[in-house]
Amino acid sequence: MAVQTIAGNATTAPVDLGPAAALSCRECGERFELGPLFACASCFGPLEVAYDLPTGSPEELRKRIEAGPDNIWRYAPLLPVPADVADKPNLNPGFTKLVKADNLARELGVTGGLYVKDDSGNPTHSFKDRVVAIAVEAARAFGFTTLSCSSTGNLAGAVGAAAARAGLRSCVFIPHDLEQGKVVMAAVYGGELVGIEGNYDDVNRFCSELIGDPLGEGWGFVNVNLRPYYGEGSKTLAYEICEQLGWRLPDQIVIPIASGSQLTKIDKGLQELIKLGLVEDKPYKIFGAQAEGCSPVSAAFKGGHDVVRPQKPNTIAKSLAIGNPADGPYVLDIARRTGGAVEDVTDEQVVDAIKLLARTEGIFGETAGGVTLGVTKKLIEAGVIDPALTTVVVNTGDGLKTLDAVSATSQATATIRPSLEAFRAAGLGTA
Ligand SMILES: *Cc1c(COP(=O)(O)O)cnc(C)c1O
Ligand SMILES: [Zn+2]
Repeated sequence: MAVQTIAGNATTAPVDLGPAAALSCRECGERFELGPLFACASCFGPLEVAYDLPTGSPEELRKRIEAGPDNIWRYAPLLPVPADVADKPNLNPGFTKLVKADNLARELGVTGGLYVKDDSGNPTHSFKDRVVAIAVEAARAFGFTTLSCSSTGNLAGAVGAAAARAGLRSCVFIPHDLEQGKVVMAAVYGGELVGIEGNYDDVNRFCSELIGDPLGEGWGFVNVNLRPYYGEGSKTLAYEICEQLGWRLPDQIVIPIASGSQLTKIDKGLQELIKLGLVEDKPYKIFGAQAEGCSPVSAAFKGGHDVVRPQKPNTIAKSLAIGNPADGPYVLDIARRTGGAVEDVTDEQVVDAIKLLARTEGIFGETAGGVTLGVTKKLIEAGVIDPALTTVVVNTGDGLKTLDAVSATSQATATIRPSLEAFRAAGLGTA
């Protein structure tokens, strides 16, 4: 193992990130000491966390997990965090509901069991709290004092909140034209929120420049220089889904794609559970979901390409509006290896799917959730998703942050004077 010393590591004390042993390059396999690094020094490939995973029996590990807290820290033995992580001030995300969606299943003709993993139940109402919680531990370990990110909206809020709770400064960057719900949700925690005139890809490019500048010294960008750690947070979605199914793998999972990090790390989490003997080793299929107005990965999948051609996003699903997704090629690999697919839906289908989920299950998802359910419906109708198998749809965010998507068609049925007469005259109460 060629271990290299990291320049720019703000501390000299040995880093304690629990079972995390090193960073390893996803392309060439070269290993590096744990540090705020994200690209391989030899081949520029993305780095990921490599572990010394627990060696006891699966039964012991399962018991240890089940005895843990009702949040992602129950999986601390499988995450790059110190053993005492649950005792530190953080937002304790995770262990969100896995809803058995029988009404929705009936409507879609699914007979094998349909579930919605509802991550709108996290502290800042999106799955981003999971990834940020892990990045905060890395930031602490490396001595960073300011938490930052380039965001399509939800990440900015998750970073602002986590920094407030952890007692760190925050300065986060978003495209200037995001939904009001995302902007307010990111600003309210009191850190700096900066709107950039441009789209997410412009914001991301700006952040890369800032990292190389003295202005950005001591800053942990959760999805840039802390990206290998950040990504690991999404593994907890895989762990929870399997544990909540009674330590079983689902047959099919449908996941939205922005940068593709979440999808690739859910797959990594499932692979780890199999390796550790916590679930039975059997095939599963992973499906990726995009909006038609930002569908670079879906286009590559359907075109049979290995490279993802960047697009200029134009969709109401702003949390997924990344035109040049960093993990796009890995998403293609996973969809193809597992026998899944990547598909996209129109903005109109996104709105229909948001309302379908609300009407059938009482869950109000954001536009990303509409993308995921819309793609699920499309792939069932196309015979690609098998309705006779167990299927999990991941709802990653809360509809209250994207009210504009449905506000035109979701208004009061009527406004009347406070009298029975008026109620009757308006023909109400019969719906
Ligand atoms: C960020 C985000 C995603 C996808 O994120 P990846 O970059 O693909 O990991 C999905 N849904 C919501 C609501 C998000 O905010
Ligand atoms: Zn490499």
